[in-house]
Amino acid sequence: MIINVNTSKAYEIEIKKHLLDETGPRISRLFRPAKCCIITDENVHRLYTGKVENSLKTAGFEVHKIVFSPGESTKNMNNLFRILRYLASEGFTSSDFLIALGGGVIGDLTGFAAAIYMRGISYIQMPTSLLAMVDSSVGGKTAIDLPEGKNLAGAFWQPEAVYMDTACLETLSKSQLQCGIIEMIKAAVILDPSLFELFNTHKPQELGSFIEDAIIKSVGIKKRIVETDENEKGIRKVLNLGHTIGHSVEKLSSYNISHGHAVASGLMIAAGMAKAGGWAEENLVERLFPLYEKYGFKADYGYSPAELAKGALSDKKRRGDIISLVIPRAMGNVTVKDIHISRFEDLIAAGLELIRKRSSAE
Ligand code: NAD
Repeated sequence: MIINVNTSKAYEIEIKKHLLDETGPRISRLFRPAKCCIITDENVHRLYTGKVENSLKTAGFEVHKIVFSPGESTKNMNNLFRILRYLASEGFTSSDFLIALGGGVIGDLTGFAAAIYMRGISYIQMPTSLLAMVDSSVGGKTAIDLPEGKNLAGAFWQPEAVYMDTACLETLSKSQLQCGIIEMIKAAVILDPSLFELFNTHKPQELGSFIEDAIIKSVGIKKRIVETDENEKGIRKVLNLGHTIGHSVEKLSSYNISHGHAVASGLMIAAGMAKAGGWAEENLVERLFPLYEKYGFKADYGYSPAELAKGALSDKKRRGDIISLVIPRAMGNVTVKDIHISRFEDLIAAGLELIRKRSSAE
């Protein structure tokens, strides 16, 4: 399956099992033989770099590699400079390119290095985690973390192409799969009830039979949003659904609750707030709850409304006394509400109460 993205730079996304074995022929359509640098992490390197490297060499490319430790802490300034200095020392020029082979951490770091090396060189996204396939590899948002906070330095820089080999999903752990699944459920709530139904009508054990369809739908949603608002000035903000309260949950747990599980909680609390605020056109709490139980997500980690509100109010989305929150109205329909901070905690409390009633009714 090929999906074309028409942003300031048009590019194609190909989704296919065992696509890594065809890396060389695919990239030969885009570049004449040149230098390329595969950037990856140790886990992905052990499993997949060999295939990509062999295919590229056979197609005549000069292949370089940089392998980082896995995990969020890799997305830092030192590693960004390590990439830039390596490229300079090996004489990379604007006709050469980078390949991000890995999850969202590698995609964000590589994309940012590509955006600033010699004022911008080409890069290819080859996402290997489900989250990177359905979210971070599409749309050209790149970043590193600073000691002061996550994703504080970055750029919009679109890739030359995105190649997704769905066979890579077979080596992901359950919790890594869940991080991708919640982003897909989020995309369904934002724009596509039929994607929700895919998850709703299947059992988690059947994931293998519908995951490719679900990826195609999720990527289609992300494509539509980034084409409309490439630089996140407006509509693209809806992709933050669940993230404002989710970041609070993450911080309150001292990052022991993963980003995906925290966003899942934030999404459900936002659904509760939508109902409590009178903005919901249907009872999303009722619709989402069984799905959460089925896929192992939790809505309520026992944090108080005051704790959740405090964390959320330090979020980037706050402007003075107003916080902008993405609120789901119905399946496939969201809106952005500006909420006065004096009302915020009460709304969270009312939303949580609905969720807690639902839990005790189970
Ligand atoms: P990640 O890159 O850390 O990958 C998660 C783990 O999975 C790592 O240990 C990695 O080695 C391993 N892994 C990856 N593919 C594998 C495979 N096929 N088999 C076995 N193990 C594999 O994290 P992630 O969840 O992919 O992405 C999270 C990052 O993405 C965060 O830094 C977040 O800020 C960023 N993000 C960016 C955007 C964007 O638009 N740029 C959107 C969402 C998230």
